[in-house]
Amino acid sequence: MRLVLLGPPGAGKGTQATRISARHGVPAISTGQLFDQQISAGTALGRRAEHYVRAGELVPDEIVLDIVAERLTTGVDCEVGFLLDGFPRTLPQAEALDRMLDASCGPLDLVVDLVVGEDEVLKRISRRAVSEGRRDDTEQTARRRLKVFAAETAPLRSHYADQGLLRSVDGSGSPDEVFARIEEVLAAVAHPEVRASRP
Ligand code: AMP
Repeated sequence: MRLVLLGPPGAGKGTQATRISARHGVPAISTGQLFDQQISAGTALGRRAEHYVRAGELVPDEIVLDIVAERLTTGVDCEVGFLLDGFPRTLPQAEALDRMLDASCGPLDLVVDLVVGEDEVLKRISRRAVSEGRRDDTEQTARRRLKVFAAETAPLRSHYADQGLLRSVDGSGSPDEVFARIEEVLAAVAHPEVRASRP
């Protein structure tokens, strides 16, 4: 199963990625986590990325693509697939991913778009700032990240809708409720005959 999880910061992508990964046995690859690890380890790449992460800005595409290409060529089994959380976030990243997959595992199966309103997302981010102490969870950076999402990442919806891959899932409610909705959508990948019988 080759999946992308799309959605604004605070939509619950990380929470749902963990669940999907556990249920379906696909590794979840989070670019945010990869950057966090590099920053904590003080690597050259971490030092290049840190300023952007702290400011709630996107890390430049060439740095992101380096880290993703490396992760997708080491330890990814095309049969098992993968789940991308937080990547792609720009159109050039999505196009680069399409090219990488054309040359390796084949196209994505689905893009799950977690839809959550701005007020709810801001509430969740401020709760997370208290409970997890992320390096980018201040109110100011949260607002900036939402703006960046709207400008840079939301256009990916039409990129994937044009490919027939986009499935929008209501991301409101409890993690269990959201996961149940995602499972319904994923049933079409696990059982393609369900997908074939739908219009
Ligand atoms: P996340 O945990 O996915 O919200 O990512 C945290 C931060 O890491 C983002 O606000 C960006 O600064 C950076 N980041 C993660 N993934 C990407 C990406 N695909 N493109 C650019 N920056 C990214």
